Amino acid sequence: MRPTILLTPDAEDGRYVLKAPYARAVADAGGLPLIAPYDAPVDALLAVAAGLVVTGGAFDIDPAAYGEARTEKCGPVKEERTRFERALLEAALARDLPVLGICGGMQLLAVVRGGTLHQDIAAEIPGAGPHEQRTPRHEPAHPIRVEPGSRLARAVGGARAAVNSTHHQAVKAQGRGLVVTARAEDGLIEAIEDPSARFCVGVQWHPELLGESAPWNRSLFAQLVEAAR
Ligand code: MN
Repeated sequence: MRPTILLTPDAEDGRYVLKAPYARAVADAGGLPLIAPYDAPVDALLAVAAGLVVTGGAFDIDPAAYGEARTEKCGPVKEERTRFERALLEAALARDLPVLGICGGMQLLAVVRGGTLHQDIAAEIPGAGPHEQRTPRHEPAHPIRVEPGSRLARAVGGARAAVNSTHHQAVKAQGRGLVVTARAEDGLIEAIEDPSARFCVGVQWHPELLGESAPWNRSLFAQLVEAAR
C-alpha cells in the first residue's frame, strides 16, 4: 500500500494550486500524494497521513514569526497559508511524522523550531552568491557542500552536489534540534535536518524539479516515503 503524503498547496484567486512536479515526485517515489486544503482540521488530515511535504511559493514568512521587524526587502506574506502550514507542520513534528520541507517549507521548519531567516540575502549578506537563477529551474545553478553522515549525504552519495536556486531569503539560525547539512560556497544554509526524527529534512532548493538532471534528488522523496511506510 502506498503511504499517504500530504502536500501543502498555494492559494491564488480563490483556488488551491499545487505545482504538478511536487505530486509527481511523491508518486514516483511510491507515495500517494494528496493536497491538504487549509479548510481541513489539522488533526483530521494527520489521521489519514503518513508523511508531509511543506512546499515553497512566491511569498515570505512574516518576520514577526521569528521575532524580527520587517525590513524593506521582505516580500509579500500569505497569512492564511502560513498559519495553516505552521499548525500542520507543528502537529506533524509532534507525532514524529516524516516531513520534507522544500524552499519556503524549509524556512518554515526552521522558524517553528525557533530559528530565524535572512529577509533578503543580497541586502543582508554582501558578497553572497546569486541564489535567484535566470537559467531553467530544472537545471542546477550552484554547488553545495554536504555534511557527511546526514540523510542528505545518503541521498547525494558524496560530499558535493549542485542544486537549483530560486530564493531571495535563507535560514539564518536553524533552530532547536536541527543541524545544518549543506551550505552553498558563500556559506548560506542550503539544507537542515533533525537527526533525532524518523525523517525531518529541509532543503532550500527544489528537488522535485531536478529528478532528470540530478537524479539523486529522487532519493530524498524515496527516503521520505520509506520512512512513512
Ligand atoms: Mn541557493
